Amino acid sequence: MNATSSSALAFDLVIAGAAMSGATLALALEHLTHSGLKIALIESAAPEKKQPEDDTHSIALAFGSCLLLNKIGLWEALSPHSTPITKIHVSDKGHWGFTNIQASTENLPFLGGVIALSKAEQIYLETINKAKNISLFRPALITEIHREIQETTLTLNTGQTIKTKLLVAADGGRSSCCALLKIPRVEHDFHQSAIIANITTSKPHQNQAFERFTEQGPLAFLPLSQNRSSVVWCMTPSQATKIESLDDAGFIDALQKEFGWRLGKILQTGKRALYPLCLRQSAQLISHRFAVVGNAAQTLHPIAGQGFNLALRDVMTLAQNIAHSYENKFDIGEMVRLQAYRKQREPDRNATVCMISQLVYGFSNASPLLTFFRNMGLIGMSVCPKTMRDPFLKRATGRFKGL
Ligand SMILES: Cc1cc2nc3c(=O)[nH]c(=O)nc-3n(C[C@H](O)[C@H](O)[C@H](O)COP(=O)(O)OP(=O)(O)OC[C@H]3O[C@@H](n4cnc5c(N)ncnc54)[C@H](O)[C@@H]3O)c2cc1C
Repeated sequence: MNATSSSALAFDLVIAGAAMSGATLALALEHLTHSGLKIALIESAAPEKKQPEDDTHSIALAFGSCLLLNKIGLWEALSPHSTPITKIHVSDKGHWGFTNIQASTENLPFLGGVIALSKAEQIYLETINKAKNISLFRPALITEIHREIQETTLTLNTGQTIKTKLLVAADGGRSSCCALLKIPRVEHDFHQSAIIANITTSKPHQNQAFERFTEQGPLAFLPLSQNRSSVVWCMTPSQATKIESLDDAGFIDALQKEFGWRLGKILQTGKRALYPLCLRQSAQLISHRFAVVGNAAQTLHPIAGQGFNLALRDVMTLAQNIAHSYENKFDIGEMVRLQAYRKQREPDRNATVCMISQLVYGFSNASPLLTFFRNMGLIGMSVCPKTMRDPFLKRATGRFKGL
Protein backbone atom coordinates (compact mmCIF):
# COMPACT_ATOMS: atom_id res chain seq x y z
CA MET A 1 0.00 0.00 0.00
CA ASN A 2 1.49 3.45 -0.85
CA ALA A 3 0.47 6.43 1.25
CA THR A 4 -0.18 9.62 -0.71
CA SER A 5 -2.81 11.49 1.32
CA SER A 6 -1.79 14.95 2.55
CA SER A 7 -4.45 15.21 5.32
CA ALA A 8 -3.80 14.46 9.02
CA LEU A 9 -3.53 10.70 9.50
CA ALA A 10 -3.79 8.29 12.43
CA PHE A 11 -1.69 5.13 12.82
CA ASP A 12 -1.27 2.75 15.74
CA LEU A 13 2.46 2.64 15.14
CA VAL A 14 4.98 4.61 13.08
CA ILE A 15 8.36 3.13 12.13
CA ALA A 16 11.09 5.47 10.85
CA GLY A 17 13.41 3.63 8.42
CA ALA A 18 12.34 0.90 6.00
CA ALA A 19 15.66 -0.95 5.64
CA MET A 20 16.18 -4.39 7.20
CA SER A 21 15.24 -3.57 10.81
CA GLY A 22 12.28 -1.27 10.17
CA ALA A 23 10.83 -3.45 7.41
CA THR A 24 11.22 -6.62 9.52
CA LEU A 25 9.43 -4.97 12.44
CA ALA A 26 6.54 -3.86 10.21
CA LEU A 27 6.20 -7.32 8.65
CA ALA A 28 6.57 -9.12 11.99
CA LEU A 29 3.71 -7.03 13.41
CA GLU A 30 1.55 -7.53 10.34
CA HIS A 31 2.09 -11.29 10.78
CA LEU A 32 1.73 -11.53 14.56
CA THR A 33 -1.38 -9.32 14.79
CA HIS A 34 -2.98 -10.69 11.58
CA SER A 35 -2.89 -7.18 10.08
CA GLY A 36 -4.60 -5.83 13.18
CA LEU A 37 -2.36 -2.80 13.66
CA LYS A 38 -2.32 0.17 11.33
CA ILE A 39 1.36 0.78 10.61
CA ALA A 40 3.13 3.68 8.86
CA LEU A 41 6.62 2.97 7.56
CA ILE A 42 8.58 6.11 6.76
CA GLU A 43 11.69 5.91 4.59
CA SER A 44 13.81 8.92 3.69
CA ALA A 45 15.61 7.37 0.70
CA ALA A 46 13.90 7.17 -2.69
CA PRO A 47 13.72 3.63 -4.13
CA GLU A 48 16.75 2.75 -6.26
CA LYS A 49 17.15 0.10 -8.88
CA LYS A 50 20.37 -1.80 -8.20
CA GLN A 51 22.15 -3.83 -10.86
CA PRO A 52 23.33 -7.34 -9.81
CA GLU A 53 26.98 -6.20 -10.08
CA ASP A 54 26.25 -3.45 -7.50
CA ASP A 55 25.17 -6.11 -5.02
CA THR A 56 28.32 -5.78 -2.92
CA HIS A 57 26.88 -5.82 0.58
CA SER A 58 25.77 -9.25 1.82
CA ILE A 59 24.92 -10.27 5.35
CA ALA A 60 25.27 -13.57 7.15
CA LEU A 61 22.10 -14.56 8.98
CA ALA A 62 22.77 -16.90 11.89
CA PHE A 63 20.76 -20.13 12.05
CA GLY A 64 18.68 -18.74 14.95
CA SER A 65 17.88 -15.63 12.85
CA CYS A 66 16.62 -17.85 10.02
CA LEU A 67 14.32 -19.55 12.54
CA LEU A 68 13.03 -16.17 13.74
CA LEU A 69 12.37 -15.05 10.17
CA ASN A 70 10.59 -18.35 9.59
CA LYS A 71 8.29 -17.61 12.55
CA ILE A 72 7.03 -14.48 10.82
CA GLY A 73 6.71 -16.09 7.39
CA LEU A 74 9.71 -14.34 5.78
CA TRP A 75 12.32 -17.11 5.56
CA GLU A 76 10.42 -18.95 2.82
CA ALA A 77 10.91 -16.01 0.43
CA LEU A 78 14.49 -15.27 1.54
CA SER A 79 15.91 -18.80 1.69
CA PRO A 80 16.06 -19.47 -2.10
CA HIS A 81 18.36 -16.43 -2.35
CA SER A 82 20.57 -17.33 0.57
CA THR A 83 23.69 -19.52 0.51
CA PRO A 84 23.99 -21.84 3.51
CA ILE A 85 27.12 -21.85 5.66
CA THR A 86 27.96 -25.35 6.89
CA LYS A 87 31.47 -24.70 8.24
CA ILE A 88 33.38 -21.70 9.61
CA HIS A 89 37.17 -21.81 9.63
CA VAL A 90 38.68 -19.35 12.13
CA SER A 91 42.43 -18.65 11.92
CA ASP A 92 45.14 -16.17 12.89
CA LYS A 93 47.40 -15.12 10.00
CA GLY A 94 51.01 -16.28 10.42
CA HIS A 95 50.30 -18.27 13.60
CA TRP A 96 49.37 -21.82 14.45
CA GLY A 97 45.99 -21.48 16.15
CA PHE A 98 42.84 -22.24 14.20
CA THR A 99 39.44 -23.75 14.84
CA ASN A 100 36.59 -25.14 12.78
CA ILE A 101 32.93 -24.73 13.65
CA GLN A 102 30.80 -27.26 11.80
CA ALA A 103 27.03 -27.50 11.44
CA SER A 104 27.20 -31.30 11.74
CA THR A 105 28.98 -31.21 15.13
CA GLU A 106 26.53 -28.56 16.39
CA ASN A 107 23.63 -30.77 15.27
CA LEU A 108 22.34 -28.09 12.94
CA PRO A 109 21.35 -28.38 9.27
CA PHE A 110 23.44 -25.24 8.59
CA LEU A 111 25.15 -22.57 10.71
CA GLY A 112 23.64 -19.63 8.85
CA GLY A 113 22.81 -18.24 5.43
CA VAL A 114 24.33 -15.41 3.37
CA ILE A 115 22.08 -13.09 1.41
CA ALA A 116 22.69 -9.94 -0.65
CA LEU A 117 21.24 -7.00 1.25
CA SER A 118 19.64 -5.49 -1.86
CA LYS A 119 17.91 -8.82 -2.66
CA ALA A 120 16.55 -9.07 0.90
CA GLU A 121 15.35 -5.45 0.76
CA GLN A 122 13.67 -6.07 -2.61
CA ILE A 123 11.82 -9.12 -1.21
CA TYR A 124 10.79 -7.09 1.84
CA LEU A 125 9.49 -4.25 -0.31
CA GLU A 126 7.39 -6.63 -2.42
CA THR A 127 5.94 -8.16 0.77
CA ILE A 128 5.22 -4.71 2.23
CA ASN A 129 3.45 -3.64 -0.95
CA LYS A 130 1.16 -6.67 -0.58
CA ALA A 131 0.57 -6.15 3.16
CA LYS A 132 -2.96 -5.15 4.17
CA ASN A 133 -2.21 -2.63 6.90
CA ILE A 134 1.26 -1.18 6.23
CA SER A 135 1.46 2.22 4.53
CA LEU A 136 4.82 3.17 3.07
CA PHE A 137 5.73 6.86 2.96
CA ARG A 138 8.75 7.16 0.66
CA PRO A 139 10.68 9.39 0.28
CA ALA A 140 9.65 11.14 3.49
CA LEU A 141 11.37 12.38 6.61
CA ILE A 142 10.11 13.11 10.11
CA THR A 143 10.95 16.75 10.84
CA GLU A 144 9.11 17.24 14.14
CA ILE A 145 8.09 14.96 16.99
CA HIS A 146 5.62 16.32 19.51
CA ARG A 147 4.89 13.95 22.41
CA GLU A 148 1.88 14.20 24.68
CA ILE A 149 0.69 11.81 27.41
CA GLN A 150 -1.64 9.73 25.23
CA GLU A 151 -0.16 10.14 21.75
CA THR A 152 2.63 11.53 19.60
CA THR A 153 2.22 13.86 16.65
CA LEU A 154 4.74 13.66 13.83
CA THR A 155 5.30 16.18 11.06
CA LEU A 156 6.80 14.97 7.80
CA ASN A 157 8.77 17.02 5.26
CA THR A 158 5.95 16.22 2.81
CA GLY A 159 3.65 18.43 4.90
CA GLN A 160 1.69 15.46 6.29
CA THR A 161 0.90 15.07 9.97
CA ILE A 162 0.58 11.70 11.69
CA LYS A 163 -0.83 10.89 15.11
CA THR A 164 0.32 7.65 16.71
CA LYS A 165 0.61 5.70 19.96
CA LEU A 166 4.21 4.70 19.39
CA LEU A 167 7.16 5.81 17.27
CA VAL A 168 9.95 3.29 16.63
CA ALA A 169 13.28 4.55 15.30
CA ALA A 170 14.89 2.12 12.86
CA ASP A 171 16.55 4.98 11.03
CA GLY A 172 20.19 3.87 11.18
CA GLY A 173 23.38 4.73 13.04
CA ARG A 174 22.82 8.49 12.86
CA SER A 175 19.16 8.21 13.90
CA SER A 176 17.54 11.58 13.27
CA CYS A 177 14.55 10.56 15.45
CA CYS A 178 16.93 10.15 18.42
CA ALA A 179 18.51 13.51 17.49
CA LEU A 180 15.09 15.22 17.36
CA LEU A 181 14.31 13.80 20.82
CA LYS A 182 17.77 14.74 22.11
CA ILE A 183 18.57 11.15 23.03
CA PRO A 184 22.37 11.04 23.30
CA ARG A 185 24.51 8.61 21.30
CA VAL A 186 27.76 7.08 22.47
CA GLU A 187 30.37 6.84 19.71
CA HIS A 188 33.59 4.91 19.66
CA ASP A 189 35.88 5.02 16.64
CA PHE A 190 37.61 1.65 16.03
CA HIS A 191 40.13 3.39 13.72
CA GLN A 192 39.36 0.71 11.17
CA SER A 193 37.53 0.66 7.83
CA ALA A 194 36.03 -2.30 6.02
CA ILE A 195 36.43 -2.92 2.31
CA ILE A 196 33.77 -5.20 0.90
CA ALA A 197 33.71 -6.97 -2.48
CA ASN A 198 32.41 -10.15 -4.09
CA ILE A 199 35.13 -12.38 -5.50
CA THR A 200 35.38 -15.64 -7.47
CA THR A 201 37.95 -18.30 -6.58
CA SER A 202 39.40 -21.26 -8.48
CA LYS A 203 38.40 -23.76 -5.76
CA PRO A 204 34.73 -24.15 -4.73
CA HIS A 205 33.95 -22.72 -1.28
CA GLN A 206 31.79 -25.75 -0.43
CA ASN A 207 29.61 -23.56 1.79
CA GLN A 208 32.55 -22.68 3.97
CA ALA A 209 33.00 -19.28 5.62
CA PHE A 210 36.40 -18.04 6.81
CA GLU A 211 37.23 -15.60 9.58
CA ARG A 212 40.93 -14.75 9.51
CA PHE A 213 42.52 -12.45 12.06
CA THR A 214 45.38 -10.35 10.75
CA GLU A 215 47.50 -7.64 12.41
CA GLN A 216 45.54 -4.98 10.49
CA GLY A 217 42.12 -6.35 11.36
CA PRO A 218 39.79 -9.27 10.64
CA LEU A 219 39.16 -10.62 7.16
CA ALA A 220 36.00 -12.63 6.45
CA PHE A 221 34.97 -14.67 3.41
CA LEU A 222 31.28 -15.65 3.25
CA PRO A 223 30.01 -18.17 0.68
CA LEU A 224 27.74 -16.85 -2.09
CA SER A 225 26.03 -18.37 -5.11
CA GLN A 226 27.98 -19.17 -8.33
CA ASN A 227 31.07 -20.02 -6.32
CA ARG A 228 31.55 -16.40 -5.28
CA SER A 229 32.52 -15.28 -1.80
CA SER A 230 31.60 -12.02 -0.11
CA VAL A 231 34.73 -10.45 1.37
CA VAL A 232 34.71 -8.13 4.40
CA TRP A 233 38.28 -6.93 4.93
CA CYS A 234 38.97 -4.66 7.92
CA MET A 235 42.13 -2.58 8.23
CA THR A 236 43.34 0.86 9.30
CA PRO A 237 41.63 3.75 7.44
CA SER A 238 44.84 4.75 5.63
CA GLN A 239 45.46 1.17 4.42
CA ALA A 240 41.83 0.95 3.31
CA THR A 241 42.15 4.10 1.22
CA LYS A 242 45.26 2.64 -0.47
CA ILE A 243 43.69 -0.80 -1.07
CA GLU A 244 40.48 0.74 -2.39
CA SER A 245 42.40 2.77 -4.96
CA LEU A 246 44.23 -0.29 -6.40
CA ASP A 247 43.13 -1.67 -9.76
CA ASP A 248 41.42 -5.09 -9.74
CA ALA A 249 44.68 -7.02 -10.29
CA GLY A 250 46.42 -5.14 -7.45
CA PHE A 251 43.45 -5.68 -5.13
CA ILE A 252 43.33 -9.42 -5.92
CA ASP A 253 47.06 -9.69 -5.31
CA ALA A 254 46.89 -7.93 -1.92
CA LEU A 255 43.87 -9.99 -0.86
CA GLN A 256 45.48 -13.26 -1.91
CA LYS A 257 48.54 -12.44 0.24
CA GLU A 258 46.38 -11.74 3.26
CA PHE A 259 43.97 -14.66 2.88
CA GLY A 260 46.25 -17.36 1.48
CA TRP A 261 45.31 -20.20 -0.87
CA ARG A 262 42.59 -22.14 0.96
CA LEU A 263 40.17 -21.34 -1.89
CA GLY A 264 42.84 -21.53 -4.59
CA LYS A 265 43.49 -18.52 -6.81
CA ILE A 266 41.28 -15.44 -6.57
CA LEU A 267 40.14 -15.07 -10.16
CA GLN A 268 37.86 -12.07 -10.24
CA THR A 269 36.56 -9.23 -8.11
CA GLY A 270 33.38 -7.19 -8.32
CA LYS A 271 32.93 -3.56 -7.27
CA ARG A 272 34.44 -2.51 -3.95
CA ALA A 273 32.84 -0.40 -1.23
CA LEU A 274 34.42 1.15 1.86
CA TYR A 275 32.81 1.54 5.30
CA PRO A 276 34.44 3.44 8.20
CA LEU A 277 33.85 1.39 11.36
CA CYS A 278 32.46 2.92 14.55
CA LEU A 279 30.45 1.64 17.47
CA ARG A 280 27.41 3.91 17.77
CA GLN A 281 24.99 3.26 20.58
CA SER A 282 21.87 5.05 21.60
CA ALA A 283 22.11 5.90 25.32
CA GLN A 284 18.46 4.82 25.72
CA LEU A 285 16.46 2.01 24.08
CA ILE A 286 13.15 3.59 25.06
CA SER A 287 11.66 6.92 26.02
CA HIS A 288 8.08 8.22 26.29
CA ARG A 289 6.09 6.60 23.42
CA PHE A 290 9.37 5.86 21.69
CA ALA A 291 11.60 2.81 21.12
CA VAL A 292 14.82 2.27 19.17
CA VAL A 293 15.87 -0.85 17.18
CA GLY A 294 18.61 -2.02 14.80
CA ASN A 295 21.51 0.19 13.76
CA ALA A 296 19.73 3.12 15.42
CA ALA A 297 20.09 1.29 18.75
CA GLN A 298 23.62 0.05 18.08
CA THR A 299 25.85 0.04 15.04
CA LEU A 300 28.49 -2.64 15.44
CA HIS A 301 31.86 -3.57 13.99
CA PRO A 302 31.19 -6.33 11.39
CA ILE A 303 33.87 -8.64 12.90
CA ALA A 304 31.41 -11.34 13.92
CA GLY A 305 28.55 -10.48 11.54
CA GLN A 306 26.27 -9.60 14.45
CA GLY A 307 24.66 -6.29 13.32
CA PHE A 308 21.41 -7.49 11.83
CA ASN A 309 21.36 -10.69 13.88
CA LEU A 310 21.29 -8.61 17.07
CA ALA A 311 18.84 -6.15 15.44
CA LEU A 312 16.50 -9.03 14.64
CA ARG A 313 16.42 -10.09 18.28
CA ASP A 314 15.52 -6.46 19.22
CA VAL A 315 12.85 -6.39 16.54
CA MET A 316 11.29 -9.74 17.45
CA THR A 317 11.21 -8.93 21.18
CA LEU A 318 9.58 -5.56 20.52
CA ALA A 319 7.15 -7.10 18.02
CA GLN A 320 6.12 -9.81 20.50
CA ASN A 321 5.57 -7.22 23.25
CA ILE A 322 3.50 -5.00 20.96
CA ALA A 323 1.47 -7.97 19.66
CA HIS A 324 0.81 -9.04 23.27
CA SER A 325 -0.45 -5.52 24.11
CA TYR A 326 -2.62 -5.52 21.00
CA GLU A 327 -4.16 -8.93 21.84
CA ASN A 328 -4.91 -7.79 25.38
CA LYS A 329 -6.23 -4.39 24.26
CA PHE A 330 -3.47 -2.54 26.16
CA ASP A 331 -2.05 0.76 24.96
CA ILE A 332 0.94 -0.38 22.79
CA GLY A 333 2.97 2.75 23.56
CA GLU A 334 2.62 2.73 27.35
CA MET A 335 5.87 3.07 29.28
CA VAL A 336 5.33 -0.12 31.28
CA ARG A 337 5.22 -2.14 28.02
CA LEU A 338 8.31 -0.42 26.63
CA GLN A 339 10.17 -1.11 29.86
CA ALA A 340 9.55 -4.83 29.35
CA TYR A 341 11.26 -4.54 25.94
CA ARG A 342 14.23 -2.68 27.45
CA LYS A 343 14.68 -5.18 30.28
CA GLN A 344 14.53 -8.15 27.90
CA ARG A 345 17.03 -6.67 25.45
CA GLU A 346 19.69 -5.06 27.62
CA PRO A 347 21.62 -8.19 28.71
CA ASP A 348 22.05 -9.55 25.15
CA ARG A 349 22.79 -6.08 23.78
CA ASN A 350 25.51 -5.39 26.39
CA ALA A 351 27.03 -8.87 26.07
CA THR A 352 27.18 -8.67 22.25
CA VAL A 353 28.74 -5.18 22.25
CA CYS A 354 31.29 -6.38 24.84
CA MET A 355 32.13 -9.58 22.90
CA ILE A 356 32.67 -7.57 19.72
CA SER A 357 34.99 -5.04 21.40
CA GLN A 358 37.02 -7.91 22.88
CA LEU A 359 37.28 -9.58 19.47
CA VAL A 360 38.29 -6.32 17.74
CA TYR A 361 40.99 -5.49 20.30
CA GLY A 362 42.06 -9.02 21.18
CA PHE A 363 42.61 -10.02 17.57
CA SER A 364 43.87 -6.80 15.99
CA ASN A 365 46.98 -6.63 18.13
CA ALA A 366 50.46 -7.88 17.30
CA SER A 367 51.74 -8.08 20.91
CA PRO A 368 53.52 -11.48 21.34
CA LEU A 369 51.67 -12.18 24.59
CA LEU A 370 48.26 -11.51 23.05
CA THR A 371 49.22 -13.52 19.96
CA PHE A 372 50.13 -16.44 22.21
CA PHE A 373 46.87 -16.24 24.17
CA ARG A 374 44.61 -15.86 21.16
CA ASN A 375 46.27 -18.85 19.49
CA MET A 376 45.78 -20.81 22.69
CA GLY A 377 42.22 -19.51 22.62
CA LEU A 378 41.61 -20.74 19.08
CA ILE A 379 43.08 -24.14 19.91
CA GLY A 380 41.07 -24.16 23.15
CA MET A 381 37.91 -23.48 21.12
CA SER A 382 38.55 -26.78 19.31
CA VAL A 383 39.54 -28.90 22.30
CA CYS A 384 37.36 -27.72 25.20
CA PRO A 385 34.03 -27.06 23.52
CA LYS A 386 31.77 -26.09 26.40
CA THR A 387 33.64 -23.35 28.27
CA MET A 388 35.31 -21.46 25.42
CA ARG A 389 33.03 -22.07 22.49
CA ASP A 390 29.62 -21.50 24.04
CA PRO A 391 29.42 -17.67 24.28
CA PHE A 392 30.91 -17.29 20.79
CA LEU A 393 28.83 -20.09 19.29
CA LYS A 394 25.61 -18.83 20.85
CA ARG A 395 26.02 -15.59 18.93
CA ALA A 396 27.52 -17.15 15.78
CA THR A 397 24.51 -19.44 15.44
CA GLY A 398 22.03 -17.00 16.99
CA ARG A 399 20.33 -19.53 19.26
CA PHE A 400 18.64 -17.67 22.11
CA LYS A 401 16.01 -18.95 24.48
CA GLY A 402 12.65 -17.19 24.74
CA LEU A 403 12.42 -15.79 21.21
C1 LIG B 1 30.75 -4.28 6.08
C2 LIG B 1 29.54 -4.75 6.85
C3 LIG B 1 29.25 -6.10 6.93
C4 LIG B 1 28.16 -6.56 7.69
N1 LIG B 1 27.90 -7.89 7.78
C5 LIG B 1 26.87 -8.31 8.54
C6 LIG B 1 26.59 -9.70 8.68
O1 LIG B 1 27.27 -10.56 8.12
N2 LIG B 1 25.55 -10.08 9.48
C7 LIG B 1 24.77 -9.15 10.13
O2 LIG B 1 23.85 -9.55 10.86
N3 LIG B 1 25.01 -7.84 10.00
C8 LIG B 1 26.03 -7.39 9.23
N4 LIG B 1 26.24 -6.05 9.08
C9 LIG B 1 25.33 -5.12 9.72
C10 LIG B 1 24.03 -4.96 8.91
O3 LIG B 1 24.32 -4.57 7.59
C11 LIG B 1 23.16 -3.92 9.59
O4 LIG B 1 23.04 -4.21 10.96
C12 LIG B 1 21.77 -3.89 9.02
O5 LIG B 1 21.80 -3.72 7.62
C13 LIG B 1 21.08 -2.74 9.75
O6 LIG B 1 19.93 -2.36 9.20
P1 LIG B 1 19.03 -1.20 9.84
O7 LIG B 1 17.75 -1.31 9.13
O8 LIG B 1 19.02 -1.26 11.32
O9 LIG B 1 19.78 0.15 9.53
P2 LIG B 1 20.19 0.84 8.17
O10 LIG B 1 20.55 -0.15 7.15
O11 LIG B 1 21.19 1.88 8.51
O12 LIG B 1 18.85 1.53 7.65
C14 LIG B 1 18.32 2.71 8.12
C15 LIG B 1 17.24 3.15 7.15
O13 LIG B 1 16.62 4.32 7.65
C16 LIG B 1 16.53 5.28 6.61
N5 LIG B 1 16.53 6.58 7.28
C17 LIG B 1 17.58 7.27 7.77
N6 LIG B 1 17.13 8.39 8.38
C18 LIG B 1 15.79 8.38 8.27
C19 LIG B 1 14.76 9.23 8.72
N7 LIG B 1 15.05 10.34 9.39
N8 LIG B 1 13.48 8.94 8.44
C20 LIG B 1 13.17 7.82 7.75
N9 LIG B 1 14.11 6.95 7.31
C21 LIG B 1 15.39 7.23 7.57
C22 LIG B 1 17.73 5.03 5.72
O14 LIG B 1 17.52 5.52 4.42
C23 LIG B 1 17.79 3.50 5.76
O15 LIG B 1 16.98 2.93 4.78
C24 LIG B 1 27.33 -5.59 8.35
C25 LIG B 1 27.62 -4.23 8.25
C26 LIG B 1 28.72 -3.81 7.51
C27 LIG B 1 29.01 -2.33 7.44
